[in-house]
Amino acid sequence: MATTYDFDLIVIGGGSGGVRAARIAAGHGAKVALIEEYRLGGTCVIRGCVPKKLMVYASRFAQDFEESHGFGWKIDSARFDWAALKTRRDTEVARLETVYRTNLLSAGVTIFEGRAHFIDAHSVEITGGRRLRAAYLLVATGAQPAQGPQIHGYEMAIDSNGFFDLASLPQRAVVQGAGYIALELACVLQLLGTQVDVVVRGDALLRGFDADVQSHLLDELMALGLRFHFHRKLNHIAKTSEGLGVTLDDGTALQGDMVLRALGRKPNTQGLGLEALGLELDVHGAIAVDAYSATALKNIYAVGDVTNRVNLTPMAIREGHAFADTVFGNTPRKVDHSLVPTAVFTTPEIGVVGLTEAQALETHPRLDVYLTQFRPMKATLSGHHSKMLLKLLVDRDTDQVLGFHSVGPDTGEMAQIMGVALQMKATKAALDATLAVHPTAAEELVTMRTPSVRHNF
Ligand code: FAD
Ligand code: NDP
Repeated sequence: MATTYDFDLIVIGGGSGGVRAARIAAGHGAKVALIEEYRLGGTCVIRGCVPKKLMVYASRFAQDFEESHGFGWKIDSARFDWAALKTRRDTEVARLETVYRTNLLSAGVTIFEGRAHFIDAHSVEITGGRRLRAAYLLVATGAQPAQGPQIHGYEMAIDSNGFFDLASLPQRAVVQGAGYIALELACVLQLLGTQVDVVVRGDALLRGFDADVQSHLLDELMALGLRFHFHRKLNHIAKTSEGLGVTLDDGTALQGDMVLRALGRKPNTQGLGLEALGLELDVHGAIAVDAYSATALKNIYAVGDVTNRVNLTPMAIREGHAFADTVFGNTPRKVDHSLVPTAVFTTPEIGVVGLTEAQALETHPRLDVYLTQFRPMKATLSGHHSKMLLKLLVDRDTDQVLGFHSVGPDTGEMAQIMGVALQMKATKAALDATLAVHPTAAEELVTMRTPSVRHNF
């Protein structure tokens, strides 16, 4: 590449997408710089998937202890120590951060610490004034919690970043939102002993998910003790002698020691200088890219949450890898954004891949729905209230499985495996031909014989 540049590639952002792109590009022989303003690993490692999942594990012991009584265990004095968990969790996150640094350095990537912004299409400036030039630039700056309406007292609320900084477990919490983050963190708190009120502006949880998943999850979360306030918004937050007083738009008064708002995420494009380069941002502030993650400027690419396509870690990683193969590996690779397996780590958790029933009906009116709801075997002795839901959507003309939806223990793991099956265009006949693993919950997937609904039959 031209020698007038300091680097072949500058990556802005050391999260899931940026780190993968930098390492793969360096592996293809490119001279790569990566600039990170906060901590290597990005949202997922530092204040997202990883610390969240550790908190989920911690919270589920509460249920395990309770259920163990039915199996003859006597656990009379279990106590939870938030500070001890936080210390151990933060230590693990710091360890992972070091692993990210080591991997980048051993791939030959030069790391710069600071915030970057564009000077022109080939140059960036880092906090402190240092300027770097490169043939190609990759924007992988991720996203941050959306602030939402600035209601009276909003500055007393925390977002998901603040959640990971909490020094102690609140006794009462008010959570606003009904997406992935609001519900995952609400479950963590409720299981650990917090009384949680969830304020939802609409009438359903997890917009965009299958309607059966939404309603099944709601029943489960209410049985867990979460209190829902549908069609409600926060009007104001005020300090009271007992903590924080939250008033909803119908006048309902709630009390909390903590208010958490999880209202979606906003791409990190502010202050990057993209508009001056002529790059248009959409209404959410996301960078528009094509299937190769190329922007309108031929040497600038963008991957991950900053493009607001599918905002999940594996997708950011895949986009970053495909970019590096395309530009530096002589192997143009598009990224397929359909058929995305995903899990929501509520308790019980959700595992999903493929079309919802409503989506499938738009293109496949002759649709068979296989649905089962049952008490997992463990509940027979533990007495736990929970039921599992498993649902398959099958196109009657081709017999192809179009969607898998599930609520219950380990369904995130099931979604990964069903993702492979759907990727291979598995038919219902192939599932029927598969021998069950007994006794498991997943065996229901290969033993459902009769559709519960036959659309357009
Ligand atoms: P990020 O990982 O956000 O990395 C962007 C990096 O760029 C950051 O480190 C940031 O500091 C840096 N940066 C920003 N601007 C600049 C600048 N100007 N200069 C230098 N550096 C800059 N996804 C899942 O798949 N599974 C989960 O279980 C899951 N759980 C989540 C839980 C929470 C609470 C949250 C918030 C997210 C979760 N996600 C999960 C989503 C996942 O974290 C993101 O999709 C993923 O991190 C996106 O990767 P990215 O590389 O696009 O951005
Ligand atoms: P989501 O988009 O999932 O949910 C946002 C929630 O906030 C929705 O319930 C939405 O309501 C509500 N909302 C938005 N604006 C307002 C407002 N002004 N007033 C009241 N309510 C509002 O975003 P999250 O922040 O939960 O998560 C961001 C993304 O991070 C996820 O979409 C996912 O891609 C990723 N993630 C993935 C996880 C995983 O894989 N397990 C875990 C955590 C995050 P409405 O539905 O009415 O719009």
